[in-house]
Amino acid sequence: MKRWMKMAATAAMMGSMLSSFAQADDAAPFVAKARQILETAVSMRTAEGHGLVPKLAEYLAGEFKAGGFDEKDIHILPVGETAALVVRYHGDGSSGKKPILLSAHMDVVDALPEDWERDPFKLIEEDGFFFGRGSEDNKFGLSVLTTTFLRLKAEGFVPDRDLIIAFSGDEESSMASTKALAHQYRDLTDSEFVLIADGGGGLLDEDGKAVSYDFQAAEKTYVTFEATVRNPGGHSSRPRADNAIYELSTSLKNIEAYQFPPELSDLTKAYFEEMSKLTPGPIGAAMKRFAENPKDKEALALLRAQPEYIGTTGTTCIATMLRGGHAENALPQSATATINCRVFPGSGLDNTLAQLKKAAGNDAIEWTMLGDPTESPGSPLRDDVLNAVRHAVHARYPDVPIIPQMSSGGSDGMHFRSVGMPSYGVSGIFMKASDGYAHGLNERVPVASLPAALEHWHIILTDLAGK
Ligand SMILES: [Zn+2]
Repeated sequence: MKRWMKMAATAAMMGSMLSSFAQADDAAPFVAKARQILETAVSMRTAEGHGLVPKLAEYLAGEFKAGGFDEKDIHILPVGETAALVVRYHGDGSSGKKPILLSAHMDVVDALPEDWERDPFKLIEEDGFFFGRGSEDNKFGLSVLTTTFLRLKAEGFVPDRDLIIAFSGDEESSMASTKALAHQYRDLTDSEFVLIADGGGGLLDEDGKAVSYDFQAAEKTYVTFEATVRNPGGHSSRPRADNAIYELSTSLKNIEAYQFPPELSDLTKAYFEEMSKLTPGPIGAAMKRFAENPKDKEALALLRAQPEYIGTTGTTCIATMLRGGHAENALPQSATATINCRVFPGSGLDNTLAQLKKAAGNDAIEWTMLGDPTESPGSPLRDDVLNAVRHAVHARYPDVPIIPQMSSGGSDGMHFRSVGMPSYGVSGIFMKASDGYAHGLNERVPVASLPAALEHWHIILTDLAGK
């Protein structure tokens, strides 16, 4: 009673806190639910080649059914050994707006149990963390999104537009299921924009204080080229003037010296403006100057000397592998360099290759593009989405800056962006940089981020689709 009275008195003084207490109480069973889903998801080794994604999709489909979703709104879509899962939450259509798509992925990068300190396929709580493969990337996201749907349904929430969950099943490998969601199953997924649980998120400093929140709205295009020089070769005792290895080396030195032009988009401008406020010294000053004028050579040089920031100033291409020759006593008949590029959105693959060719300065080089890269435009910085995310982040950490961010490429978002659905990485996780072990050993996520992320998504979705 005493405690209740104290709470009531406090609440009377601070009305806003009453709602957050009430919310926290309402959410309690759903925190347990999210944890149960996370535990079950982590226990399934959904890495490429294990064929277990459809099993996880079945399990999640069962949760949605039990939560009151109609069977006809739940779709398991097989794609090779994997699968995608689509679940539609019907709104009343009163806003007249197209749906919002919610994205996460069910697969994980494989983990070898013998290399881990703990069983990677068992959710283990220890020292304030959940350990396990996918605990962060991205079974956390799918557990929180699934639970948010169950919670909204249980609360009787009727959105003013449809909400659609679209979980992919091979984000960490070929993304065939993501492509299927964006193309083949577009009738099920077509939306005004996409919110991605596997992107963006908050940064804590080493003392656990919130520093900033990354709002991911673009990604660079990942593309790899091979450059090959061929030569008739011959006996090494009778060297000829032309040599495949020397020629390739000369061209590589030329590429090393080449500077891709500086680029600035609305997004990277906002990024550098915000980051300049958080970054002391000459680097922060360079960010401010670059945001004002990307042709500022000094600012550009300073930013490009930082591995952390060079990627945001334009396209980058860098030699990553080399092979050549076939015997120690033979002149090389070929030499090949692998060059990996991260192309600035809108800059174009053809344009990037043309610049590499020109920089290399040798018309005899054969160029090959590896794989089938997907180009995607940056997504516009929409006020509605930014405001909803700001609202959610500031409910937890008032005044933390929201920083629009372009990532270096390779997530589900690019396939949705490439078909004209703007996509935003808005993860509900805040963590320290030193705790980031996604894809690596001993992947973990703070236990406290589970209830916090549930609130995060609840606020975002009720903001964007509530009345
Ligand atoms: Zn991921």
